[in-house]
Amino acid sequence: MSRRIDDICPRPDAPLDTVTRPLATPIYPATVYQCDSTEQAFGLLAGTVDGFVYSRDGHPNANLLAGRCAELHGTDRALVTGSGMSALSLALVSLLEQGDHVVVSSQLYGKSLALWTGEAPRFGIRATAVEICDLAAVEAAIQPDTKLVLAETIANPMLRVADISSLAELAHAGNAKLLIDNTFASPAVCRPAEFGADLVMESVTKIMNGHSDVMLGLLCFGQDNAERIKAAHSVWGLFPSPIDCWLAARGLSTLAVRVERAAANARAVAEGLAARDDIEAVYYPGLSGHVDHAVAARQFGEVFGNIVTFTLPGGTEAADRFIHAAADSIPFCPSLGELSTTQTHPASTSHRLMTESDREAIEIRGGTIRLSVGIESQEHIVSALQNALSATA
Ligand SMILES: *Cc1c(COP(=O)(O)O)cnc(C)c1O
Repeated sequence: MSRRIDDICPRPDAPLDTVTRPLATPIYPATVYQCDSTEQAFGLLAGTVDGFVYSRDGHPNANLLAGRCAELHGTDRALVTGSGMSALSLALVSLLEQGDHVVVSSQLYGKSLALWTGEAPRFGIRATAVEICDLAAVEAAIQPDTKLVLAETIANPMLRVADISSLAELAHAGNAKLLIDNTFASPAVCRPAEFGADLVMESVTKIMNGHSDVMLGLLCFGQDNAERIKAAHSVWGLFPSPIDCWLAARGLSTLAVRVERAAANARAVAEGLAARDDIEAVYYPGLSGHVDHAVAARQFGEVFGNIVTFTLPGGTEAADRFIHAAADSIPFCPSLGELSTTQTHPASTSHRLMTESDREAIEIRGGTIRLSVGIESQEHIVSALQNALSATA
């Protein structure tokens, strides 16, 4: 007997009845799942039965992505959030309370610095921003009520590298936890938990997804913080979309080969730029002349990431000429970790709100350009840069 169309629509689909299984992961957009019994529903909601009930609390695509990331970072647990910023918010709202103090790097990603030094104080959480590569300054900033120390593995745009094991020692001596924002490195370059970090955060938006089409964040943590963080993730509504998680899991599958290729390209670009006499300075942690090269070599081994920064001698005017001359091959995009090589100008984008003298103190000048090197052929990138530099001179 045929069924009326209006009886079919509201019915949940039966699973595909087949003896084979799909090789690619299905996408599960369902917001809610059917329970078999009151006992099972109770157990699912209490967390004593494994499974899904309501997608804000967890869904297969997020769990798969989080599970892979926890394995990559070597942590007990991980949760995916709707953006990198929401992963930092998750750390804030789950681990801290009124009266707590945090020590953060003064060179954090701009919105992250705004979260810790602008938003957190509204809830009675005090923050001290310090030069995170100055370990004596970090030690001096830690107070009896310091609960968290936050640094970025590689900081934008001068690519200063945090000494994670020393920071972990200082944080733990003060009974604080160490949270590392690993976005500029990714787990293909560095796994901060191996060096003692208690929590690791990534903006999956960048190279982890790597295709400029997903915004997501990640927080990796140990079993000791799991209950607190999981509860806050749901209550504060930091849910990631199943489709975004599916896309990011696909991007993650090629992370190792993308980073290997992009980092080899970045090294060639950095060495090529360093050999020229029309460049004022080149910054790449893989160059032996980089101020943090020794720390970088200890933590990263042979792969130093895909970001290269350099300064043209002619100030903003020269930067403008370079950006226009390169734009056809190297788009001007203030983000990083895309498939293609991109360029940005920190003084007019990420660091525009700093005073010129504060920028000068960390060597960000009008002529400073930051490259996120992609996976094109090395010849293509090098010739695009050479042509743009000829047009700039
Ligand atoms: C982009 C970025 C973030 C924020 O991530 P979103 O996914 O954009 O919210 C945090 N930290 C660093 C170092 C970043 O580059």
